[in-house]
Amino acid sequence: MCRIGMFYGEGLLKYSFPKNHPLNRKRVELFWELMVKQGLTRINNIQIFEPIKAERDDILSFHTEDYVKFVESISQSGYGYLDYGDTPAFKGIYEASSFVVGSALKALDLIMRKEIDHVFIPVGGLHHARRDRAAGFCVFNDLAITIMRAKRVYGLRRILYVDIDAHHGDGVFYEFYDDPSIYIMDIHEDGRYLYPGTGFTNEIGSKDAVGTKLNLPLDPGSGDKEFKVAFDKIDEFIVKAKPDIILFQCGADGLKDDPITHLQYTIEAHRYATRKLHMFSHKFCDGKIIAFGGGGYSAEKTAEAWIEVVKSLCLI
Ligand SMILES: [Zn+2]
Ligand SMILES: [Zn+2]
Repeated sequence: MCRIGMFYGEGLLKYSFPKNHPLNRKRVELFWELMVKQGLTRINNIQIFEPIKAERDDILSFHTEDYVKFVESISQSGYGYLDYGDTPAFKGIYEASSFVVGSALKALDLIMRKEIDHVFIPVGGLHHARRDRAAGFCVFNDLAITIMRAKRVYGLRRILYVDIDAHHGDGVFYEFYDDPSIYIMDIHEDGRYLYPGTGFTNEIGSKDAVGTKLNLPLDPGSGDKEFKVAFDKIDEFIVKAKPDIILFQCGADGLKDDPITHLQYTIEAHRYATRKLHMFSHKFCDGKIIAFGGGGYSAEKTAEAWIEVVKSLCLI
């Protein structure tokens, strides 16, 4: 039976924007209530880990010194925005963001040391953050920092990043656009209709990395049928990628009823994608897969989708 690691605790709940911001702790608390209610926190092969903070140097493996200093200072005042209006500051935002990064790095360590097979982190997958700036609710890019550590500390040379969040994962996509060791498949609502307005099919990587990037934009209103057709491109892509590890951003904002996107998936999309990636992780990389919660702004639907992800990582 596969051993699943999960991260949950006050440290991760701190990554919650104030007032009526769509990215808040309620959706994560609701997910945890469901975990408890369904008995998933008590099954033997699921182990719960406390979130831990990242070191400043870990954050600097991807982000610029100036940007890190900016986050530190705005974290003290708790006033204003980190970008042009999507990502508000709050007191302690630096600390909250380092819990997200630290948990992702610990997840990687646990997997590389074979202490655990698969990991799910509900708060994480902050795919819009760039090296030198915040964007779209994302302060530090935990995915990119995990990729840096996988390369530098563990010497991994073939990393597969799969992103099914409704928004294009531009922060990961463009920062590794010319890196041939990072294979990216990103399914999202067409950038002509949704933030961040990027992620078109002609973007396939540059220099040595041509062919390592695959964008699959879907029209507004697309549902499970369209999702599955797009997701099945993974069959061919993964053979090319031959990954040492899979990072999966399983954002739930593509679900019908999400207040900020126009896709129409049901949680069947999450079941389908996770089962397939889980199966592939055993086939290609000794089970190494980390799933990151990502977006999702209908709290109930997001909680249900993440439960489906956890269950699909348990079953084979
Ligand atoms: Zn497994
Ligand atoms: Zn999103």
